[in-house]
Amino acid sequence: MIPIINTVKTMEKPKSFPEQEQSQPGKENAMQPKPEVIRDSYIGSDKLKGKVALISGGDSGIGRSVAVHFAREGAAVAIIYLEETKDAEDTRKMVEKEGGRCLLFKGDLSSFDFCESVVEECVSEFGQLNILVNNAAIQFPKNSAEEISESQFRKTFETNIFPYFYLVKCALKHLGEGDSIINTSSVTAYRGSEHLLDYSSTKGAIVSFTRSLAKMLAPDNIRVNGVAPGPIWTPLIPATFDDVSDFGQDTPMGRAGQPSEVGPSYVFLASEDASYITGQFIHVNGGEIIGS
Ligand code: NAD
Ligand code: MG
Repeated sequence: MIPIINTVKTMEKPKSFPEQEQSQPGKENAMQPKPEVIRDSYIGSDKLKGKVALISGGDSGIGRSVAVHFAREGAAVAIIYLEETKDAEDTRKMVEKEGGRCLLFKGDLSSFDFCESVVEECVSEFGQLNILVNNAAIQFPKNSAEEISESQFRKTFETNIFPYFYLVKCALKHLGEGDSIINTSSVTAYRGSEHLLDYSSTKGAIVSFTRSLAKMLAPDNIRVNGVAPGPIWTPLIPATFDDVSDFGQDTPMGRAGQPSEVGPSYVFLASEDASYITGQFIHVNGGEIIGS
């Protein structure tokens, strides 16, 4: 008989949050409480051994969790961030603690040239690229269309969806059979949001981008999938919402998710376990039922 291993107890997930103020981009090191990045009880099993992953927005929140999960599964990672160098350095330390290597790229993804140089430097350093995780985003909540300036609308699209295309375009010549692309969307793409007209539109664009790219690349056996998170406790939240006290309480599970509860979906989609899955989304959202 196999003995039952008594794993480390999983962190108690908070149901409400203290008042706090931040501006965009939010800093994980300033959050209270700190998000859970990975469960102590998460046991890696070499699912991504020998792979190289490039993760946009990998300094914090969901992207950091993906970086650390990928490292625990044996991958080397490169992360792109806007300006949060302390968070990025902390992520690198976490990846190194897992025995992985981590490159940091600081800059603005809305520049095609920056995206191109990141991909090329990543490949020249690691010699290959196997997994692209498109994940960086901004949001500026507004309650009416009149309040959304033309420049905000443009900036949201230029940050949230244009770079997904730029990084894909630059990465494709390095990706091969069995490799994959994973795009972060949002529950707001599926249910709409009266507070996030521009942001939710970019997240809807990401869904269609993912489905179309999946069809385009299926003959090459490069899979393209996505994750559509619900409310997750990351720096984006205190940086963009005035009141975070009841954040996530309107989900069926009655609480926000932690990054540690999102990262494993990216592992699954990146690994061979998902070898017959492309063009699909995993809905990590505390129980909101989504059409497809
Ligand atoms: P986060 O703030 O930790 O991550 C977003 C990252 O994007 C930042 O770390 C920042 O460095 C990067 N970024 C922003 N603008 C950039 C630019 N111009 N150039 C380069 N990098 C830039 O927040 P998060 O919640 O982990 O966000 C990750 C993804 O998850 C986003 O796509 C977000 O839309 C999505 N998401 C989050 C939630 C949630 O509740 N937290 C819900 C649904 C979807
Ligand atoms: Mg950040």
